[in-house]
Amino acid sequence: MIKELIEEFYKQKKSDKEKNVFYVSDAGKCPRAVWFSLKGYPKKELDARTLRVLEHGDYTHMRIIGALFSLGLVNAVEVEIPNNDLVHGRADAIISIKGEPYVVEIKSVNSAKFKKEKPDPAHVKQLQLYLYFFKMKKGILIYENKDTQELKEFVLDYDEETVREVFSEFNKLKELLEKNVIPDIPKELEDWRCDYCPYIEECEKIEEEKLNQNVRN
Ligand code: SF4
Repeated sequence: MIKELIEEFYKQKKSDKEKNVFYVSDAGKCPRAVWFSLKGYPKKELDARTLRVLEHGDYTHMRIIGALFSLGLVNAVEVEIPNNDLVHGRADAIISIKGEPYVVEIKSVNSAKFKKEKPDPAHVKQLQLYLYFFKMKKGILIYENKDTQELKEFVLDYDEETVREVFSEFNKLKELLEKNVIPDIPKELEDWRCDYCPYIEECEKIEEEKLNQNVRN
C-alpha cells in the first residue's frame, strides 16, 4: 500500500542530488564551500581528529534524544522536511511540552561558542527553516559544551525575515551554480570555517589566480 510511495520518495531524493538542491545545514555556511560541494569538487580527506570530533557530535545527539524519549516528550525524530526543489533536510526532533510542539536542533559546541549569549546565526537560520517547512511557531536550539557536557538552550519564535534572508541567499547561490560562477568569499566569514574547510586548497588556488590576474591588469 505504501511501498510504492516509499520507493518513489527515495528515487526523488536521488534525482534531487543532481539538481543543485541545498541542505538546511548549508544555511549560514560559506557559500563558496557549498558551491564546491555541489559542483563535486574533490574534498580534502578529514584527519582522524576531525573524524573523532564529528563522532563525538553524533553521540551527543543520541544521548540528548535518548533523554527526551525517556521524558516522554518526543513526537518524532530525524524528521524530513517536505519535498521541494530548493532545500532538503532533517530536523533532529519534534517534541511537545505541555501540548505545545517545538522543533529541536541539537548542537555540540566548543567552550568559546557555548559562552556566547546568543546562538550561532547559522544555527538560527537552520532552525528557522525547519519552522517554516513544518509550519511551526517555536523551536529550541540545545547546545552541549563538548568540553564540559554543560547544557544551554535557546527558545526561538518563528521569524519570517530570517527565512526570507536564507531563501534569498540560496537563490543567489543557485544562480551562480547555474552560471558556473564561483562565489566571492563573504567579508564576515569566520576564520575557523577555513581551518576546517575540505576545499581550502581549491579556494586558495582561486584566490591566487585572482591576485595574479590583478597584477597583470
Ligand atoms: S577555504 Fe574558507 S573561504 Fe574558501 S571555500 Fe572554504 S570556507 Fe570558504
